[in-house]
Amino acid sequence: IIITQGKYIASAVRADQYPEGDLPEVVFIGRSNVGKSSLINSLSRVGGLARVSGTPGKTQTINFYELSAKIPSIEERRSFFLVDLPGYGYAKTGQANRKVWAKFIEEYLLKSPRLQFVCQLIDIRHDPMKSDIEMFNWLVENNLPVLIIATKADKLSKNAVQKQVKQIKKVLGVPDLDVLPYSSVKSEGRSDLLDVISTVLVE
Ligand code: GDP
Repeated sequence: IIITQGKYIASAVRADQYPEGDLPEVVFIGRSNVGKSSLINSLSRVGGLARVSGTPGKTQTINFYELSAKIPSIEERRSFFLVDLPGYGYAKTGQANRKVWAKFIEEYLLKSPRLQFVCQLIDIRHDPMKSDIEMFNWLVENNLPVLIIATKADKLSKNAVQKQVKQIKKVLGVPDLDVLPYSSVKSEGRSDLLDVISTVLVE
């Protein structure tokens, strides 16, 4: 599929601030600094759509972007919401903030009827951290489909990427888990991710 347009729609901390309509939603979640903003910009090919932050943990809202796609297989255009959730696991956010995070993010993840699947981003240079594992387990326990995206794949050799993909599956305890290496710098993994997204758009 070909992304033809990407635009910012809304930010929300409560359900009544979610945008209206029934577009399918693909959600992105990950530790602060994992490369989430870079991935959103690389996927949409709209520079500056998501802010590549110098200050980790600053975005504390659920951000909705509408992406339009041309789908050659059905010769149609479809739109979807790309939903950017605040980063987790950043120490400086502090305990109080973390509770607020948990509450309005959990509400969104558990109640959105339009949510299709969650892309959880994990930095490929290291094993999933405690907060990554906790998040993953929480998503699975709540029956949310998860695609793991291993970010910054350009920082490792091809062999090391394959080795670390295996390691991520092992640490998360799911041997047949979908883990997709991604490089925003080289746009690697982009067409694979778009293929996965297209499956929920043509249903
Ligand atoms: P966020 O906090 O998760 O939104 O992360 P950002 O997108 O702001 O990226 C955090 C840092 O990682 C920035 O310095 C980016 O330039 C860098 N980064 C993000 N994605 C990649 C990637 O695919 N490859 C490399 N080499 N660096 C990346």
